[in-house]
Amino acid sequence: MNAQTTDAEPAICGAVASNAPGACVLDAEHALRGERHQDAEGLTWAYDFKHGRPDIYEITWMSGHIEQVPAHQVAYPHRGLIVTDCAIGIGADAGAPRVQIHAEINGVWRLMLSAREEDIRTMRLVTGGERIPGGAS
Ligand SMILES: [Zn+2]
Repeated sequence: MNAQTTDAEPAICGAVASNAPGACVLDAEHALRGERHQDAEGLTWAYDFKHGRPDIYEITWMSGHIEQVPAHQVAYPHRGLIVTDCAIGIGADAGAPRVQIHAEINGVWRLMLSAREEDIRTMRLVTGGERIPGGAS
């Protein structure tokens, strides 16, 4: 008689982000509840990408003001819309090209900066090589 089935395994999510080691230690159903994965070090992530410490971008505005912005993602939304504009005829009213910077702060994905490219003189990455904390020897 075989009453045991193989799905009696520990109910742990075990999801692994594609960019960093460390499996999810939460219960297997948490993702179904819309909750973020969390590893043993307390880093959380959704989908397939685990965010470590954000990069810091130093922005020099055309005004000369210098600002540092934490960033997990730098996006240029208009660059994906150029073809669409032509095809659908949305027109040139979409505004000036913008830069958007997002970062995950305390587990919340936030828009840190949305600025017109023409207002930015330079944008420089001032950090690097520290993608995931806790990975040191
Ligand atoms: Zn999980």
